[in-house]
Amino acid sequence: MPERIRNICVYCSSSNAIDGTYFDVAEEAGRLLGAGGYTLVYGGGSVGLMGALARSVHEHGGQVLGVIPEALKAREGVAYEIADRLVTTPTMQKRKAVMYQHAEAFMVLPGGFGTLEEFLEVLTLKQLGYHRRAIAVVNTDGFYDPLLDLFEHFYDERFAPETHRALYHLADTPEAALHHIEAYGDA
Ligand code: AMP
Repeated sequence: MPERIRNICVYCSSSNAIDGTYFDVAEEAGRLLGAGGYTLVYGGGSVGLMGALARSVHEHGGQVLGVIPEALKAREGVAYEIADRLVTTPTMQKRKAVMYQHAEAFMVLPGGFGTLEEFLEVLTLKQLGYHRRAIAVVNTDGFYDPLLDLFEHFYDERFAPETHRALYHLADTPEAALHHIEAYGDA
């Protein structure tokens, strides 16, 4: 029987300007992680979906491990200072490495460039065989459909084999994403 997953890394938007629907999704993800007794591993921010997610994990009894570069932490109001652990790193690259080290599975919520970069990095590492952890993408109201169209283009043009669809899982809701992660284990 594989060990139960405890530390889930979530990538999501740092924007405060986005629609409330996205905040509902982040809060729901936080509620599920908190109530499920998980530790959230994330970018340590208090802004956008990141902040909503971390606060919701705490409200529902979960633990929060934030990993934030010194330069971002120095910016007032950006870091989630009440994280159970807030690790600071010298660079963005080191920050991603620390998040990756602690993560037993990855969940991707709607986000922008930063989120996309983080998602594609763990996807590429999995493609190359560096890890076999679950990657669940929460495709809220088809938010990621344009990206998934690009992925289809990769398959059509054989820049990636169709079998690579299995590297990531598409979920409509955080609940479905978490079900996938739980069933997948940390193979
Ligand atoms: P974005 O999707 O461009 O909003 O970037 C969000 C992702 O990049 C998060 O998963 C974070 O790891 C990182 N990030 C971007 N901005 C911040 C910030 N102000 N504080 C902490 N992390 C951030």
